Amino acid sequence: MIYDVIILGSGPAGLSAAIYAQRARLNTLVVEAKPLSGGQILDTYEVDNYPGMQGTSGFDLGMKFREHADALGVEFYTAQVQQVRIAGKIKEVVTDQDTLQAKSVILAMGANHRKIGVPGEEELSGMGVSYCATCDGAFFKGKTVAVVGGGDVALEDALFLARACEKVYLIHRRDEFRGAKILQEQVKQKENIEIIWNGQVKEIQGENKVEKIIVHNNIEETDAELEVQGVFIAVGIQPNSDVVKEIVALDEQGYVKAMEDTVTSQPGIFAAGDIRTKQLRQVITAAADGANAVTSVERYLIEASL
Ligand code: NAP
Repeated sequence: MIYDVIILGSGPAGLSAAIYAQRARLNTLVVEAKPLSGGQILDTYEVDNYPGMQGTSGFDLGMKFREHADALGVEFYTAQVQQVRIAGKIKEVVTDQDTLQAKSVILAMGANHRKIGVPGEEELSGMGVSYCATCDGAFFKGKTVAVVGGGDVALEDALFLARACEKVYLIHRRDEFRGAKILQEQVKQKENIEIIWNGQVKEIQGENKVEKIIVHNNIEETDAELEVQGVFIAVGIQPNSDVVKEIVALDEQGYVKAMEDTVTSQPGIFAAGDIRTKQLRQVITAAADGANAVTSVERYLIEASL
């Protein structure tokens, strides 16, 4: 079987592409790494900026996207993609199960949590070090935790944790947040959030569980010890572009080079959502990419006489 399009990933970009492809009557397959669609928003406590869905949980929004795709009869397949190959005009998606074939491929594998790369981070991962406040926050009720980062996710995590934790240190390496102004205001109003500006976590310490962190002040060049039971790392994301790095052009951070039309350097391969070079990585821009990608696929199939 040669599909018209195989969509890799089932976050907002992949699901949006699936909905558009199915409506365009393309023979479509969505390959997802685990049998749970939604991508990064599954870990997002609240998505408050998707029009018409104010205050929805990320999980619910992910489920709604999936229900929509299911209702249209989209075919899903759970497998780990290991490589994408070009075989003339046909593209081959090599997975841990088998090799799939398609006339075009939409890369919608998104991105993963970035690490800070300090001693103790890996050793204490799952033992107090977490990359998902909404997944693990409940374990820290009444405790003192640190959130590392200054973007939307760090601010949202700090607010989320402040509801249940006794104290939240929000440690940012500069003296100005990157995250949305509305979140900054909320963070500054919370009494149990203490912002540590110009702070860089140098080390995470503890015996089988997080006990303290060493925070370096970038301006004064001093170190301070903070007793915390949890460290939530929210320092951004890394694109999941490894399996295509041989066939499409990436930028220096590993994002697949593509504009709004999602066209990559490789004919027939399109990149949608957080995996591609873009100004704003949000659910709404990912969903828009999915729609654009299918339009580009349709155009490609005609132009390439496929
Ligand atoms: P981000 O916006 O890239 O922010 C990453 C933060 O981590 C920055 O403040 C950065 O500092 C800091 N950082 C990076 N590397 C670091 C290191 N090694 N040590 C210490 N700090 C480090 O990432 P994000 O917050 O994960 O958000 C990812 C994307 O999702 C963004 O586009 C965001 O807008 C979007 N998002 C949107 C929403 C929403 O709209 N509701 C919610 C969540 C996420 P600097 O500021 O100094 O670079």
